[in-house]
Amino acid sequence: MTGLSDSFQRPINYLRISVTDRCNLRCTYCMPASGVRLMPHSDILTYEEIYTVVRAAAQLGINKVRITGGEPLVRSGLPHLIHMLAQIDTIDDISLTTNGTLLSRYAAELKQAGLKRVNISLDTLKPDKFGYITRSNYSLSDVLEGINAAKSVRFNPVKLNLVVMAGINDDELLDFGAKTISDGWHVRFIESMPIAGGDTAKFVSVSEMRRRLEQLGELEPCLSSVGNGPAKYFSFPHAKGTIGFITPVSEHFCFRCNRLRLTADGKLRPCLLAEDEVDLKQPLRNGISPTGLKQLIEETVVHKPLRHHLAEGYVLKDRPFSQVGG
Ligand code: SAM
Repeated sequence: MTGLSDSFQRPINYLRISVTDRCNLRCTYCMPASGVRLMPHSDILTYEEIYTVVRAAAQLGINKVRITGGEPLVRSGLPHLIHMLAQIDTIDDISLTTNGTLLSRYAAELKQAGLKRVNISLDTLKPDKFGYITRSNYSLSDVLEGINAAKSVRFNPVKLNLVVMAGINDDELLDFGAKTISDGWHVRFIESMPIAGGDTAKFVSVSEMRRRLEQLGELEPCLSSVGNGPAKYFSFPHAKGTIGFITPVSEHFCFRCNRLRLTADGKLRPCLLAEDEVDLKQPLRNGISPTGLKQLIEETVVHKPLRHHLAEGYVLKDRPFSQVGG
């Protein structure tokens, strides 16, 4: 096995899988209050179909898988999928991105099934604001319980993702920063990406976030990084936790992108922020051979674009993030 690489010689070894387009929250920066048009259940890949895709991708060199959504924990039987994927010898990292509201219920089962790590989205530490941002009946305490459960079953690391929005939650930058010192949290601050109908006026750049966070102390680059993704990591002196910055808008990191994405309805996308995709669902349902499936994956990789164009005003329009996995 020589491994997959795209037309720009980037090695591709990471597959993000959206297992559902359903979400139990309606975060303001991610989707409209009314939600998004949902796919019929029959269009959503079964766990067996997802397993078949991952097995083929693993034979081509994919060794890391992240499960996302929608909210992946609203799909029943998720630990069963994790268990199936953990049986594929060459997959050595299975992680989950979740909003954390249901995590306390499933953490132990997920751990036992073979899940290694979780990223939890949390955009505020204030209960009222949690309701405002997520437009749901879940509460901040549901997520905090999820974080505690993730730590108690020893997912490592547990990272928290925060989309920073001016006038909404940027007043909490220092509160989250302080948590990296007092509680050893790993917090990743994400620039808000424009989505169709979204409000780009709320954008805060990472350089501005960093300037404000440095009121808590000097941020030192982390030598031993807690991740190998798009974030750049720093920490305050003596902090056990870390600060990660993700700059999809102000400084793209496409030159080191190693990802493919599988949508809930079985489309393989070479890039989150480009509308190209290759259908795997119909070929799977028509009984495509493992060799044929691997060819489709290789063809998708060839079409991976060099970079996205958010900085030039591009807005993702074809699908909401909840369908492509954020
Ligand atoms: N439900 C899960 C969750 O909340 O983490 C997984 C899906 S969610 C779409 C995945 C990630 O996308 C989250 O970390 C979320 O913050 C991020 N996201 C969604 N819309 C975004 C936007 N407009 N800009 C930046 N990140 C966004």
